[in-house]
Amino acid sequence: MSEAKSQPNAKSAKRAAKRPGKPAKILKKAPSVDNPGRVLKRSRYSKAEAYAIFERFHADNPEPEGELDYINAYTLLVAVLLSAQATDVGVNRATKHLFQIADTPEKMVALGEDRVREEIRTIGLFKTKAKNVILMSEQLIRDHGGEVPENREALEKLPGVGRKTANVVLNIFFGHPTIAVDTHLFRLGNRIGIAPGKTPLDVEKAMEKAVPVEFSLHAHHWLILHGRYICKARKPECKRCVIYDLCKSPEKEKFDAIPDIAVRTKALILKDTAA
Ligand code: SF4
Repeated sequence: MSEAKSQPNAKSAKRAAKRPGKPAKILKKAPSVDNPGRVLKRSRYSKAEAYAIFERFHADNPEPEGELDYINAYTLLVAVLLSAQATDVGVNRATKHLFQIADTPEKMVALGEDRVREEIRTIGLFKTKAKNVILMSEQLIRDHGGEVPENREALEKLPGVGRKTANVVLNIFFGHPTIAVDTHLFRLGNRIGIAPGKTPLDVEKAMEKAVPVEFSLHAHHWLILHGRYICKARKPECKRCVIYDLCKSPEKEKFDAIPDIAVRTKALILKDTAA
């Protein structure tokens, strides 16, 4: 047999991979915007199961709040714009002084790009962000009389403002039930399979379908906080998870008993229902 024939080609390798009995390929990395992995066609949860999940989040934290500091709609918009590829703590540190001297688009434009760049130089991509803050402020003054528009289309036309930023501002400041899909929310939607999708927009749409209307205002915060502190990218902390017994993720850590936190949160709901 010639050497060429003895080498497995791409086709035979593919066939071998499909052989029955071969264990399913395990996703080595948590789903991310860059690598969603194998995406489910639909949610793993029925309507009742999805309701139970958000009921737990509500019982655990009835009034969730974002972690970015702001004074008004404008400073919130600036803070969210600065938060791309940066931590909220880092953004808050940089904006503490900036917002004291410039809390309106007019004051920010008067401050100028060089000074804004200096103020935010501890944040990643600070040069581009300083430029966008000034351009965005100029456009707010020119097109909206210095006010932040309560409208996604208008927000998305501002320099440096994408759908995610617009959704955060609409949710936090204006109280719209929007869902901003960041890296945590994207991972969570796919990992637990409540809102699977290949792109942030797919996950946003799937999440809108999955979230019961009673919980739609705070869903964004619950999911972000859950992804940031509990269902983390590298190693989910299943032992501290309030939805442990409801979660259908294959990555869920197996314990002999349901973690206390999930039992306690469930008991809170039952007590509430009985009252
Ligand atoms: S049980 Fe584990 S995998 Fe499931 S949502 Fe909780 S932390 Fe994430």
